[in-house]
Amino acid sequence: MQQAINIKVLVLAAHGAILSHVDELTLLDLAIGDGDHGTNMKRGMDAVLDEVDHLAEMPLSDALGAAGTRLVMTVGGASGPLFATFLQVFGRELGMVENQSPNKKVADAFKKAVEAVAERGKSKEGEKTLLDVLFPMSAALNLNSNWNELASVARTAANATIPLQASKGRAAYLGKRSIGHMDPGARSVTLIVDALASVAGSMP
Ligand code: ADP
Ligand code: MG
Repeated sequence: MQQAINIKVLVLAAHGAILSHVDELTLLDLAIGDGDHGTNMKRGMDAVLDEVDHLAEMPLSDALGAAGTRLVMTVGGASGPLFATFLQVFGRELGMVENQSPNKKVADAFKKAVEAVAERGKSKEGEKTLLDVLFPMSAALNLNSNWNELASVARTAANATIPLQASKGRAAYLGKRSIGHMDPGARSVTLIVDALASVAGSMP
């Protein structure tokens, strides 16, 4: 029961964070992409919210996977399959690894999920994508960071995408003109982590 309430609270928080920043995400993607990132994220989060009562009845690991499936079915852009891969692998790994402390379990599952995103995107850290936030978050989790520390790492990492030149995604077509703007996907991850930190308080 406790967990059911938590999943709903987490989904509502993440949905609210994206909904209240759609215009900002649109502007970031207009600067270095095609301007659809705000509406892509909103469509995906709306679809997850539609399912929230169903998700809240599942174990967390299954709920993460099911939310990923909703994203891949509803978000057309590159970001949909990437966020979906993250959620699906994070959920799968959380459900599998048993003989570890909770913090290590989360850190290891998160690391596997980030690596799966990199594989799916054929990308790595430093290419001005959401991976530039996910990899530093993974490192922070290995150091037992709490939610607030994690949110702070994410914010700093998203800011650090501004001076980078993109070499993956649509922004790569701009070459040097991609420099000077925050990566939209990196910003989305930060918004979600901030929102989760504000409601979760402690790691799952
Ligand atoms: P699209 O690029 O198809 O319009 P979105 O605008 O929704 O999709 O998402 C763009 C974001 O997706 C980028 O800001 C970046 O963070 C992320 N992204 C795009 N391509 C890749 C990739 N190959 N690897 C990792 N992240 C990527
Ligand atoms: Mg786009």
